Amino acid sequence: MTAKIINGVAVSAEIRKDLKVRVEALAAQRVVPGLAVIVVGNNPASAVYVRNKIKACADVGIHSFRYDFPTDADPRAVLDLISELNDREDVHGILVQLPLPPQFAISEILRTISADKDVDGFHLYNVGGLVVGNTVFPPCTPYGVVKMLEHEGVALEGKNVVVVGASNIVGKPMALMLMQHDATVCICHAKTRDLAQFTILADILVVAAGKPNLIVPQMIKTGAVVIDVGINRLPDGKLVGDVDFAGVSEKASLITPVPGGVGPMTVTMLLYNTVASAERRNAAASLRQ
Ligand code: NAP
Repeated sequence: MTAKIINGVAVSAEIRKDLKVRVEALAAQRVVPGLAVIVVGNNPASAVYVRNKIKACADVGIHSFRYDFPTDADPRAVLDLISELNDREDVHGILVQLPLPPQFAISEILRTISADKDVDGFHLYNVGGLVVGNTVFPPCTPYGVVKMLEHEGVALEGKNVVVVGASNIVGKPMALMLMQHDATVCICHAKTRDLAQFTILADILVVAAGKPNLIVPQMIKTGAVVIDVGINRLPDGKLVGDVDFAGVSEKASLITPVPGGVGPMTVTMLLYNTVASAERRNAAASLRQ
């Protein structure tokens, strides 16, 4: 069996096309979705991610507002800016690019972002919403995975799904979202003993560990759907995921490449959450009139 490759760039393009239409509909009501992006320090990876996000905003008609702070910034200044942005009518989403320098308490930063502008979905309120199945903003990376599976017509109900990686931003919300779709979910992490005994059972395997070649063909079931969230830079500069792509492609039915798989979907779902936020606020404002 040779897997069909899920093209994240193409799926993203379809979603973005639809978002443009929604942005135009808002514009007709004199609303421009706005995303505030706060950057602290000069982490080179963050600089690339932020540039991509801002460009993507412009492509669909979202207004972005970028705020830069030096590495030694006082967290108070960032918290004050977030409070100001929480009150602004032209800002529908607020994003603080992670990681932050060590003087910052990330939990305090995330808690300060208004839950209804938390387009990254990291605020405790939104995490709680995910747990009880009443999600406000699904976190972008796992949301992108769900959209890709939907796009490919992969049914989730009753499927065995194994998520490798249990971080707060990818693995855990991924598992919760798949549970909401009535999959039977198993979550593995670095202390899992004999990872392969779990992965081999997966109809759908989602890998987000940050370890190149963690998943090799012997660890997957023939015909499995394999979603590789990992992004790893090898010493020779090549970008790879967590899955042995060439080997696993021979056994899986569907697989995502790295790059060009989950990565573009993450940015697209950030745009999606920002447009949804603007629509929600506009609908609420119309009701008040
Ligand atoms: P993270 O916070 O470092 O979490 C990694 C998770 O993987 C942890 O739960 C860890 O287990 C687990 N893990 C590590 N080694 C493992 C092993 N050998 N076997 C099983 N589990 C293992 O990373 P993250 O932020 O979730 O990101 C994961 C990967 O996805 C990274 O490569 C990152 O660059 C990539 N990523 C991609 C996107 C995208 O848009 N494509 C977005 C976000 C992240 P413990 O909990 O036990 O430590």
